Amino acid sequence: MASVRFEEVTRRYDGVVAVDELSLQIEDQEFLVLVGPSGSGKSTSLRMLAGLEEVNSGRIYIGDRVVNNVAAKDRDIAMVFQSYALYPHMSVYDNMAFGLKLRKMKPDEIRRRVEEAAHILGIEDLLKRKPRQLSGGQRQRVALGRAIVRDPAVFLLDEPLSNLDAKLRVQTRAEISKLHQRLGTTFVYVTHDQTEAMTMATRIAVLNHGKLQQVGTPQELYDAPRNVFVAGFIGSPAINFFDATVKPDGEGLVLQHAGFAVPAPADRLPQLREYAGKRVIFGVRPEDIHVAGAEPESIATAKVDATVDVVELMGNEILMYVLVGEKSVLARVGPRTQVRPGQSIGLAFDVGRLYLFDPETELAIGQPRV
Ligand code: ADP
Ligand code: MG
Repeated sequence: MASVRFEEVTRRYDGVVAVDELSLQIEDQEFLVLVGPSGSGKSTSLRMLAGLEEVNSGRIYIGDRVVNNVAAKDRDIAMVFQSYALYPHMSVYDNMAFGLKLRKMKPDEIRRRVEEAAHILGIEDLLKRKPRQLSGGQRQRVALGRAIVRDPAVFLLDEPLSNLDAKLRVQTRAEISKLHQRLGTTFVYVTHDQTEAMTMATRIAVLNHGKLQQVGTPQELYDAPRNVFVAGFIGSPAINFFDATVKPDGEGLVLQHAGFAVPAPADRLPQLREYAGKRVIFGVRPEDIHVAGAEPESIATAKVDATVDVVELMGNEILMYVLVGEKSVLARVGPRTQVRPGQSIGLAFDVGRLYLFDPETELAIGQPRV
């Protein structure tokens, strides 16, 4: 078991800063998910931690030890790759035992560890097979097993579910979470999939263009994104953004978008006053847009006219794409809502739940109350 710390860690490839002064503390036994779009520096960060990639500047700690110059094999970590990287000519048993044999572990101990890992993963019956005789999900388990037998201080996983079909991905997601609880070891998990991040992480670190955007629990990132990028990345379906100009309206302010105006949230008037006459970005999550008349009574709303564009029936809810002027906006509404494409409709935006951002810095202007 161990904590991990990145201290202003930078990695450049000619012309590209893949990871830009990453500072991140990962606590012992945490399930930390590094999430971001493709090319954001997730794998590079993980590979530097694993010792597979050189660090240009900054320091990486595993526990109290600076590991920049420690060989990968001496870092007490185990890594699971997207490709699984199994040896095709070896049996499942030998694939799992291989690393331990290299370490000259006693055969009895190797057998004990492989059997225990196989038991945890439910692959006892597959130990004699070759990788090509396994399904994708089974191969993925063997790759996990090979990491488990090492009994590492830190598990590193790079998009381990990407090659599985959707149903198996959801199932394996829960199994990896259970595995983390059972082993009680630090996990650092890389994915581009915000749903995986939200469902598995104790904390999430969001990367974009090699820069750390925000670190927090899944709920913290959802409720209080610190910038436009995090607000747009975390949450599925994604938040709707609008450009607006802040205009005085009696004692208060309104956010004027082409075609409609939304009253400024009362609790953020103080911060918004300095934006009077200037532009802001506001965001509304799909669940905070109601069909007018069906909104909860307790909330302050802004009425917005729209035209229904596409209706997706999900069974438990309806995803309703509407046009507000030229702009496509997504609302999540109740499953019994009677709407059809082409229909004119009144919407009610939950004003208290608006997210506000400075268009220059892209930083949040206050946060909606939870
Ligand atoms: P992610 O895992 O988030 O998709 P990576 O860490 O693999 O992103 O890559 C981050 C950036 O570094 C990308 O722009 C990528 O093209 C670049 N990069 C990664 N590895 C190399 C390499 N070996 N040589 C040159 N550029 C690289
Ligand atoms: Mg990657």
